[in-house]
Amino acid sequence: MPKRVYFFGGGKAEGRGDQKLHLGGKGAGLAEMTNIGLPVPPGFTITIDTCAEYWQLGKRNPVGLDKEVLQNLRKLETVTGKKLGDPLDPLLISVRSGAARSMPGMMETILNLGLNDASVEGLAQKTGNARFAYDSYRRFIQMYAATAMGLSKEPLEEMLHHLKHARGIKHDTDLSATDLKELCAQFKKFYAEKKGEPFPQDPIAQLWGAVAAVFNCWEAEKSVTYRRVEKITDLKGTAVNICTMVYGNKGDNSGTGVCFTRDPNSGENVFYGDCLINAQGKDVVAGIRTPMKLIELESKLPRAYKQLCEVRKTLERHYKDMQDLEFTVEDEKLYMLQCRTGKRSPAATFRIAVDMVKEKLISKETALSRISAEDIERLFYPVIDPQTAKAELTARFLTSGINAVPGAATGHVVFTAARAEELAAKGTHAILVRKETSPEDVGGMHAAQGILTATGGKTSHAAVVARGWGKCCIVGCDALEIDYTKKHFVVNGKLIQEGQFVTLDGSSGDVYEGEMSLVKPEFPEAYNTIMGWADKIRRLKVRTNADTPYDSEKAVAMGAEGIGLCRTEHMFFDTEERRLAIQEMIVANTEDARRRALDKLLPFQREDFMGIFKAMHGKPVTIRLIDPPLHEFTPKDKDGVERLSKTTGLSTDFIEKRCEQLHEANPMLGHRGCRLCITYPEILDMQVRAIMEAAVACKKKGVKALPEIMHPLVLDRKELKLLEERTRRVADEVLAQSGVKIPYLIGTMIEIPRAALLAHEIAEVAEFFSFGTNDLTQMTMGLSRDDAGRFLPEYVDEKKAGIFKFDPFQSLDISGVGQLVQMGIERGRATKPNLKIGICGEHGGEARSVKFCHKVGMDYVSCSPYRVPIARLAAAHAVIEEQLGKRATGPSKASASKVKKSAPQRAPARKHPPKRKAASRR
Ligand code: PEP
Ligand code: MG
Repeated sequence: MPKRVYFFGGGKAEGRGDQKLHLGGKGAGLAEMTNIGLPVPPGFTITIDTCAEYWQLGKRNPVGLDKEVLQNLRKLETVTGKKLGDPLDPLLISVRSGAARSMPGMMETILNLGLNDASVEGLAQKTGNARFAYDSYRRFIQMYAATAMGLSKEPLEEMLHHLKHARGIKHDTDLSATDLKELCAQFKKFYAEKKGEPFPQDPIAQLWGAVAAVFNCWEAEKSVTYRRVEKITDLKGTAVNICTMVYGNKGDNSGTGVCFTRDPNSGENVFYGDCLINAQGKDVVAGIRTPMKLIELESKLPRAYKQLCEVRKTLERHYKDMQDLEFTVEDEKLYMLQCRTGKRSPAATFRIAVDMVKEKLISKETALSRISAEDIERLFYPVIDPQTAKAELTARFLTSGINAVPGAATGHVVFTAARAEELAAKGTHAILVRKETSPEDVGGMHAAQGILTATGGKTSHAAVVARGWGKCCIVGCDALEIDYTKKHFVVNGKLIQEGQFVTLDGSSGDVYEGEMSLVKPEFPEAYNTIMGWADKIRRLKVRTNADTPYDSEKAVAMGAEGIGLCRTEHMFFDTEERRLAIQEMIVANTEDARRRALDKLLPFQREDFMGIFKAMHGKPVTIRLIDPPLHEFTPKDKDGVERLSKTTGLSTDFIEKRCEQLHEANPMLGHRGCRLCITYPEILDMQVRAIMEAAVACKKKGVKALPEIMHPLVLDRKELKLLEERTRRVADEVLAQSGVKIPYLIGTMIEIPRAALLAHEIAEVAEFFSFGTNDLTQMTMGLSRDDAGRFLPEYVDEKKAGIFKFDPFQSLDISGVGQLVQMGIERGRATKPNLKIGICGEHGGEARSVKFCHKVGMDYVSCSPYRVPIARLAAAHAVIEEQLGKRATGPSKASASKVKKSAPQRAPARKHPPKRKAASRR
């Protein structure tokens, strides 16, 4: 029988910190903190596998669990010297969920378990604090009724509210022991009416009810939604943590808090968090009361604060990462209730990683491993345009709240998560405004551009969830008077209705009326350090796919080391003049007519190539000759036909007929790619001339140009040979005429499975290969790039067909298409060992695919400018993972970067593939 329960207490734990998958993050943290001597209240953890078993057995506990739990309960009673349900001095416990990954606010907690009508009296007597005892009992009944028994929370909240109203008091803490005792009686009566049985008095029955509640919460709608939004697909269930209760609500020498060992927004090395005096843990996280800053604890509870600062140091040294902690102070004694790796903003991710290397806590490799592709993407946080006039800011200013997550957002005010989702579905930006958020709101929070709440602190639900997504969020904005029924809020006398625009500045916490212009920010200082380290480590070069001098410059600024794909046909769409010239070339039905049109195109292309060579300053530039099916360029309506007729002098009748002739039933497999230059070699002549004349002109101006001429959609050696000979003839002629020497290469894309299969033959002619994995995926999988979007999501959605883990147009299908890539490389290099090989399909900027490219021995990847940093980082990750793999398997294993004979190894799966649309041709 598997061990299902792990004890911790009395200075040692059965579990360890590295058992997150088994004990959950919370359980592993409690075990580890116990083992390193931190003050953790004793308890035990029921494993995640047990939860999975519970669901497999149709919501029944596996045989033997009861015995194991009871044994551990007895052990807990021995360690604490108290008994659960003891009417004189009861042991009280908390029952909390805890999955392997943090799911803030999604899971359940029941506190004060073990209280009943008898033990509450014992607790009152023992503590000499009847108010505290009955307050604990009423909280337990509330939590148990809602969490374990599924009763609505509102009626009990209403009863509490009424009682306070009747007594004329504002705060819960002003209720007397008698009031609270009366409240408990009301709660139990309500419970009995609703459930048809009295509130359970047997603590063991209470315990099993709570354990089942935690198991059940795994499949509750809010948890399922959270996992869907966060793309968490690899977890089996939640652990259950049963822990001795400690009390932060015992009076003014008690308290509770949530903190981070460093600032999770800026990453600064300062102790950061929220706390409340005389409160229980959930009060801080739920945002029910607006908490005070952690530093205030120093004056209120100095001894505990000092101890907490020591814990902070110990944990950072131990885990070597920023930690997110939960603590309670009971009668000035500190207890640690949770410790886990803290969520942080992207800017903080970079800063903490760099600072920790400087502090010699971690290596550069570890720092790099902690940065993900998403962290880089999120550096593109927008901010309110700094050019905005001060007067405008002042005029629009509504109020200020707590700046929980940086960045700015603008959108229509909505008051419900559902409305935010509705607007998002229509592509409309929404700002979700709530008194506070709860886990039920996650769908809408994700859909909204920004989140604004009236209560809560930096660690409230809204703040923690939004931070995880890098979403602008302002909390604790208590000037907001929100009226959900009237769908408006009033702030400083101003009325803002649903649908009106507001703008949030999550960095300052300021809220503005109206829609304001946003701009993308500068990268944080630490970004450059991290990218510098990545560049030193990686072996793969990173190029960019760019067709204009502007994009090329942008890409160089992002770290591109060359152009891996310049799609020349993009240049034909820039202006009406160019469009008409290419259309004239296409409808031409004689070589002469075609040449005349090509002559018009030549200067445009030459000029563009000069701009690109200049922007790339001696870096290699791979220029692909015309690729798409001709019919993509033909005029699409009468107007277009007439305009073309006017410029060419051809009749509209003739043009329409030519367009009809050019139409193809299956254009992706039709007259496109290098087939165009095979049948109309004059197109090749023009393009190659433009490239080489541009290179010559650049050289004459002192700008080094390194052209690499690439033929698309090649499927046979002879086909490439014809193209290569003609390319060389034209290029050499230009060079001979100019008297200038320029090295150039001629290569091919590998986009057709046949080309990968016959790569050894094609490599006899090609000087380089570039894998066009967009087409290679399309043709290998038989999935149309343009049409698969209609059904492919179902193939990827694990709740539906779930055939693929990733969209193969976003993340390379390593087990299928990957085999062809590897085979193409092996065979190509068997002919030409130094064959230069890269990738220029969309996959070249997707981290998981980049790692695969490294493994199979490519020289470079090429991707859109904004994804260049992602590729640089992924290439460094590939080396680090390779080194770790080598260390794990020993030095005798061959280098993973060398091409192996066997089928490709599946590259380690990333948990969050970047959100990108399915690859589109243009
Ligand atoms: C490819 O097919 O992967 C490629 C880069 O070319 P395009 O997307 O232009 O067809
Ligand atoms: Mg292609």
